[in-house]
Amino acid sequence: MTHIPHSLPLSIRLIQYCVYTGFLLLSYPALAEYSATSNPVPHLSGTLEVSVATGTIEADVTVGNLPRVQDYTFQLNSGLNLHNIRSGDLAATYHYRRTALPERFHESLSYWLPGSDSNSKYLPQALHWNYTGKYPVIDALENPAAFDWKGNIAFNGGTLRADGMQTAWFPQLYDKDSDKLFYEVTYDLKISCNDCRAIFVNGSHPVLGTQAHLISKDPVEPLLLLGDFSFSEQAGNVLINSPLSPADAERVLTRLTAIKQKMAKLLGWQSDSGLTFLSTTPVSKANAWMWVSIPSIVSVDHDDDLLAGLLSEDLEKRISYSQFAAHELAHVFIGERRQFNSDFGFILSESLAEYLASLVVSDLFAETSMDEITQKKLQRAARSPLHSLREISESGGELNNDTVRYQQAPAIWLLLDKNLSRAVMLNWVERLLTQQTKLTDYAFASEQLRASIGDELLADAILHQYFEGTGYSTNNPSKEMREANATSAKALESR
Ligand SMILES: [Zn+2]
Repeated sequence: MTHIPHSLPLSIRLIQYCVYTGFLLLSYPALAEYSATSNPVPHLSGTLEVSVATGTIEADVTVGNLPRVQDYTFQLNSGLNLHNIRSGDLAATYHYRRTALPERFHESLSYWLPGSDSNSKYLPQALHWNYTGKYPVIDALENPAAFDWKGNIAFNGGTLRADGMQTAWFPQLYDKDSDKLFYEVTYDLKISCNDCRAIFVNGSHPVLGTQAHLISKDPVEPLLLLGDFSFSEQAGNVLINSPLSPADAERVLTRLTAIKQKMAKLLGWQSDSGLTFLSTTPVSKANAWMWVSIPSIVSVDHDDDLLAGLLSEDLEKRISYSQFAAHELAHVFIGERRQFNSDFGFILSESLAEYLASLVVSDLFAETSMDEITQKKLQRAARSPLHSLREISESGGELNNDTVRYQQAPAIWLLLDKNLSRAVMLNWVERLLTQQTKLTDYAFASEQLRASIGDELLADAILHQYFEGTGYSTNNPSKEMREANATSAKALESR
């Protein structure tokens, strides 16, 4: 297993996309394709007691309706101390095993119940978990943490923030064979937080007060925000802890709607998610980022909500924040159809969001163009040695980094959009989101592109040039690239 170190300089203000980094994903969460028979959705029920003043979490929860999987682990945040794991009816207390080597995320430990022989594992229909955690309460302005990221269970003095996936604040079943993490759950939770003003669990409306009984019958990633915050509703969207004035919030929502409409037109379907916009502050000084936990778009920043950048007077800033927002909205659309798995799936998920965002932004702003965006991405990618997509996929995670996900791979999709065609690329995106597959890996991505191109000779040339080589990256094409281009052009002519 390889850990990708976080390599961005901390001396500058970091504004990043969905920061999964900091700590590596060994592989990317797999998708829930809900079918009641073959893939039951786990149900999380029980009580959660939180204090935002002392940074404590006490949980007494049952994870039920567990899918039948053989080789599994449960992932639970490494800062949570387990009292016991019991049967769903509390009659039996189980012996469990634990490993400090994370199967998926650095943030969590892996648990399982040993079976009757040393190689097997036991998995009942439901398991009851009792655990406690005490986390540092960090005032970022007084005594900041060095780093903050999506997978951090963060008490910032006013609130508790925990995403519902990477933090593993509740026990998440992971099926090793299909590389699938069951982090989207239905839930029935009684939450108590005596020093809170409001309670929010993703999938439910936020509640004012110190107690809440929240239920979601739809599978959802149970992101948490508890503590001192306010919320409001605007045009079917919920704003949580927004620093924006009502008038500015309305202007931001208008711009987001424009982006959403362009995205829907590109993809050919409407996203029916009414969105929640959640703003909060990091426990470090320098980090700022956004992510999507459908239907919430989360912005973590000290200065302002990152969405406020959509209103900036500075055109360049407005364009780049529109790209951020479009990227996150693309995740909403993509996430409604598929969650990618496998190491290469992580590249696909991020680069497709970035590709779609680039199409939308170059369409919205006359001042920028696809060519310009592509060239900038290629330049940024070329700051470190370039590897082909094939090499990256074969590196077992070693070469899969932010530069690949946000610069190099999206630049390739943009080049193909220009050199091959928009229709072929959007057909490819649709295939990636809808075709049945166990793994959304390199083989799947290239097979689906081949199918979208629909011409063997051309597909060979394209895959050779863009997937197996790096010749596309230079303005001074190599002999190999000129040949591949000639072959592509010829094949295109003959169509
Ligand atoms: Zn992203």
